[in-house]
Amino acid sequence: MSLPASTAELRALDAAHHLHPFSDMKSLNAEGSRIIVKAEGVWLTDSDGNRILDGMSGLWCVNVGYGRQEIVDAVAQQMTELPYYNTFFKTTHKPAIELAAKLAELTPPQFNRVFFTGSGSESNDTVIKLVRRYFQIKEKPEKKIIISRRNAYHGSTVAAGSLGGMAPMHGQSAPIPDILHIAQPYWWGEARQGETPEEFGLRAAQALEAAIDAMGEDRIAAFIAEPIQGAGGVIIPPATYWPEIARICRERDILFISDEVICGFGRTGKWFGCETFGTEPDILVMAKGITSGYMPLGGVMVADRVAEVLLEGGDFNHGYTYSGHPAACAAAIANLDIMVREDLVGHVANDAGPYLKAGWSALADHPLVGEAPMTGLVGALELTPDKTGRTSFADVGKVGTLARDFSFKNGLVMRAVRDRLIIAPPLVISHGEIDELVARARRTLDDTYAELKRWGWV
Ligand code: PMP
Repeated sequence: MSLPASTAELRALDAAHHLHPFSDMKSLNAEGSRIIVKAEGVWLTDSDGNRILDGMSGLWCVNVGYGRQEIVDAVAQQMTELPYYNTFFKTTHKPAIELAAKLAELTPPQFNRVFFTGSGSESNDTVIKLVRRYFQIKEKPEKKIIISRRNAYHGSTVAAGSLGGMAPMHGQSAPIPDILHIAQPYWWGEARQGETPEEFGLRAAQALEAAIDAMGEDRIAAFIAEPIQGAGGVIIPPATYWPEIARICRERDILFISDEVICGFGRTGKWFGCETFGTEPDILVMAKGITSGYMPLGGVMVADRVAEVLLEGGDFNHGYTYSGHPAACAAAIANLDIMVREDLVGHVANDAGPYLKAGWSALADHPLVGEAPMTGLVGALELTPDKTGRTSFADVGKVGTLARDFSFKNGLVMRAVRDRLIIAPPLVISHGEIDELVARARRTLDDTYAELKRWGWV
């Protein structure tokens, strides 16, 4: 079968045979999918030849930008030499050895060991088993509850989806037992009237202490959190939140898991989000930016104090066919080499991050924007009918979708979560491209505002 050439024919074939993730397939098929055919740097090209600035790095993953021949060559070379071998049954291979050692160097000092997976979801499934195994070996098998947060995202397998706090996902597949969800540090959406971000941040963190004390420390195994909630809407916690969480974790016998699937590999202006926020996790979860999305790969870093227990516990009955896939490891090694050589973390911290933040923060003057937070190269625009009162639109999600669709028309990929627009562009973005991104975002806000006026919503 040869593929048809026209966008309309490709869309019809897609509609006939392809079920997309997180999609209403009936309405998507009626509308037709956008078909991306190539990409270079921060720019996507669709099947009609439109050039679109990718403000989301694909799905928060293309940190080094598109079109890096060096990664392609490394993968091709590895595929030629050894396209596949497993890491079960007393076996390993050079790419897994090299990448594991490199990750031990790049991650905070407590981390020296990694368990490889194929994705963020598989990493978080691994975490659940690993944490429970740890307390079994310590002869505390009753310590198995993991505390997470509402509106957290940790993946979409049965277990990772349970760990996440997404109500629409739980509505379609009930969460597995022994996972508890507490409040999220979302000041705009959840603070009381008159409560400052600092007061709210403390209160949100203390929900962890209250939950541990209510259930009993002897039943709680771990707390898992994203440094900045990504899919939940780029929720950047108030400055008081992480220090208080760190205190609570320090004072109690629980493990702290930092899900760095989005925040890892430079996104926040340090190698890992926990370094930006000053926490010291026992387990660090990664995927996405580890290969910049060029190949699927994930991993779980285990701190020495946890690994030392696990190493005494005999077999860990867990693993994936593609744990440490050689070609994926080769992509990660080449990707990390680029990040180090081009000092992309420094570029985010000292150049692109502050430059984008200046332009982005200025969007807060728009009548539709309630807040415009940004850390490193990840930010949000909260859309509101009333800037002063922290109010929401009546039909939550409708304005976000409207704005997102305008954004595409204006040649910028932004994502909408409820009525919050979010961005996380490739770390290599230049000043000129940042100017373009901010200009297109403002045009999008203007278009949305004009439409809402027509609707009588503002
Ligand atoms: N954790 C976080 C914080 C994520 O953002 C994601 C994906 N967006 C995942 C886990 C799941 O990763 P994957 O889609 O690779 O399974």
